[in-house]
Amino acid sequence: DEGIGAWAERRARRTPHRTAVVHGDGRRMSYAGLYAHATRIAHTLRHHGVRKGDRVGFLGPNRPEFLACLFATGLLGAVFVPFNVRLGPPELAYQLTDCGARVLLRTGRSPGAPAGTGVPVVEVDATGEAAPAPPVEESVAPGDPYVILYTSGTTGHPKGAVLTHANLTWNAVNVLIDMDLTADETALIAAPLYHAAALGMQALPVLLKGGTCVLMESFDAGAALGAVERHRVTSLFGVPTMFRRIAAHPRWPDADLSSLRTLVCGGAQVPEALAVTYARRGLVLRQGYGMTEAAPGVLLAPPGPAGVAPGPAGVPHLFTDVRVVVAGPDGPAGSGAVRADEGDAGAEGGDGGDGGDGGDRAVDAAVGETGELLVRGPNVMAGYWNRPQESTAVFTDGWLHTGDAARVDADGGVTVVDRIKEMIISGGENIYPAEVEHALLAHPGVADCAVIPVPDTEWGEVGRAVLVAAPGVLLDPDEVLASLSGRLAGYKIPRTAVVAPDLPRTATGKAVRRQLKDRYGAP
Ligand code: AMP
Ligand code: MG
Repeated sequence: DEGIGAWAERRARRTPHRTAVVHGDGRRMSYAGLYAHATRIAHTLRHHGVRKGDRVGFLGPNRPEFLACLFATGLLGAVFVPFNVRLGPPELAYQLTDCGARVLLRTGRSPGAPAGTGVPVVEVDATGEAAPAPPVEESVAPGDPYVILYTSGTTGHPKGAVLTHANLTWNAVNVLIDMDLTADETALIAAPLYHAAALGMQALPVLLKGGTCVLMESFDAGAALGAVERHRVTSLFGVPTMFRRIAAHPRWPDADLSSLRTLVCGGAQVPEALAVTYARRGLVLRQGYGMTEAAPGVLLAPPGPAGVAPGPAGVPHLFTDVRVVVAGPDGPAGSGAVRADEGDAGAEGGDGGDGGDGGDRAVDAAVGETGELLVRGPNVMAGYWNRPQESTAVFTDGWLHTGDAARVDADGGVTVVDRIKEMIISGGENIYPAEVEHALLAHPGVADCAVIPVPDTEWGEVGRAVLVAAPGVLLDPDEVLASLSGRLAGYKIPRTAVVAPDLPRTATGKAVRRQLKDRYGAP
């Protein structure tokens, strides 16, 4: 069988006694144990009516249950939908309903399903020994959807990126090749598995290879250093905030980090000083660039010599292609990039022909010239769940628009230099201003608003709300922010808010973000 659910079975046959997972409290689960739990959970899911193609929600932190449920869902040919545990109840309700989950699996101290969705909640536990359950027979094709990961957009509502077995398999192949993962890999998984990075850059390739995943339920720099020593961790992925905290921890100078071989930092631009800090300890901090829609790996900086900080430039993964494009001669100047959604309706389905873009043609950028980064490859999703229009809009001739600006150097290295899309990255979590603005406008005293990024030493960026009061209202910015709690995940709530007389807007009514940032974006 070609599905990823079968990886657990094949691994259980090949290396039953090797450790697949180490839980935060030190308990170990073998490959045989992981497979036994997966089959047991698969039967439970069947009992709840889950059939091939059905969506199975999952709510929980990095625990063995996450991986057991992932493989259980795969064995059934069903679709695994892990949710961010930090979502507010209305946000979770929206995503549960949007994907049409048949059940919600839950573990740990995670919040329950929000009332009113009618989705049954099933508690899962994969801590003890599992009695082997009969194998689950379901045929799975590589192109079948396997994981849906919600990612927001400029429209203000999250969309589910549909990743197939093939997408995640090819990403795992890319990662195994370019990160040189071995069968003796011990990966510390400290970023949440419900994000594409920990799932795609760590868990799946490591488990395919037969290595060990050490799971951390929530990131803590001191605990991460302790785990590296205790488990002789060989590889670690993290966002810049995590690597910064590790290097700032009092134990950093004395911790034994001699087991570490592969460090990948991504999710946001990696400050050069951070890579230098690691290089001084002989550790090579490689920048990775990816996105959920690419399952997620796209670029990875080559390691280079020990003791030297690698530059920001990455190389596309072996089976993934990238292009940097600028608007064609007859296209609008604008941001200098082609946006598929600025054309008219676009080509009717499929990727035949390059019509439909209203003359807004993609032209490859010259060496050193900045343009929009496009990605194509077997790891790139086919589209968003139940969103045919948005799925078509994000591709041009089979190339995925990343909404990021990049340039290609003379030696072929690709450097991501800026963001074209409106997004704030705060400690590795993405915040879409439109979604937050939508929530702010629900406050009766807010007539208009914009959310802008403000540089932050700890989080990279934090959000700031620029609020315009309704006529005759004296706005209390803190009260407005407080009104968002419980409605939006905490990380999306702007850190600060200011009141402005009005917002600079274009003729078409779009807030001019650059002017807003100049005026209100100082830290
Ligand atoms: P997500 O799919 O939610 O992880 O977000 C993907 C986005 O994160 C990309 O489109 C980029 O804007 C940003 N991103 C990820 N890695 C990097 C990186 N190494 N440098 C700059 N931006 C990054
Ligand atoms: Mg991210």
